[in-house]
Amino acid sequence: PSLTRGVAVEIPKVSWEDIGGLKDLKKKLQQAVEWPIKHRSAFSRMGISPIRGVLLHGPPGCSKTTLAKAAANAAQASFFSLSGADLFSMYVGEGEALLRSTFQRARVAAPSIIFFDEADVVAGKRGDSSSNSSTVGERLLSTLLTEMDGLQQAEGILVLAATNRPHAIDAALMRPGRFDLLLYVPPPDKEARLEILNVHTRNMSIDDDVDLRTIAEKTELFTGAELEGLCREAGIVALRESISTAVVCNHHFQTALSSLKPALTRADIE
Ligand code: ATP
Repeated sequence: PSLTRGVAVEIPKVSWEDIGGLKDLKKKLQQAVEWPIKHRSAFSRMGISPIRGVLLHGPPGCSKTTLAKAAANAAQASFFSLSGADLFSMYVGEGEALLRSTFQRARVAAPSIIFFDEADVVAGKRGDSSSNSSTVGERLLSTLLTEMDGLQQAEGILVLAATNRPHAIDAALMRPGRFDLLLYVPPPDKEARLEILNVHTRNMSIDDDVDLRTIAEKTELFTGAELEGLCREAGIVALRESISTAVVCNHHFQTALSSLKPALTRADIE
């Protein structure tokens, strides 16, 4: 990482091509994240104020984190990452301090993207006893609101938050000027699964007898993370058979497939 006035800056290496499927979503993120950063003066010429926050929601393992990183890469923005659960578990005051210092570092290193994972842990509805009734949660949420509002003056900083529980997010965060855009990141359909399998076998020598299209058909309800795991497992099965083997064959994929079950159920996606 390079240093901008004492702040370690990292631009993620992941690109849009590393993410299978989600074509429309990628386009929306490009418009919302990449354009305002890359073409800042054009936006101000038009008098358009860029959005400050995007809330990505959807089941785990479907590339919310990866999308945020790809957006940062495309915009050549510094990437900062916060986890709601980590902030929540810190000693009194430390979570707020980390939140504030992250926004401060992001300002110094702008253009920046702050990725806020498990946002519902901190940004849960106030007064909701299951998540956020404690003063720790209330204080973190109010710090987050203050920092988000402070972004109105700052340029080139965008917060991308992720949650599996969008209904748990406090309404105050969804007001204009905070999280202006809510995007659903769905589990992959058949075509997307094929693309994901292609991504994760790109650097793998696979035999001609492997038909990724059939595997995509047989992996309903698998998330991107699980498909990545399937490819890895097929490689391991091949190596277990013979450490000197050079290619992964269909039967390796079938063995791997028989040992893996998706965590999502139909009820999760309907
Ligand atoms: P969580 O909610 O658990 O944090 P997430 O939605 O943020 O999950 P990621 O962490 O982005 O998911 O994805 C986990 C892994 O799965 C990544 O390493 C990524 O390579 C892989 N993956 C998920 N979706 C895709 C996809 N559409 N294309 C390629 N790889 C994917």
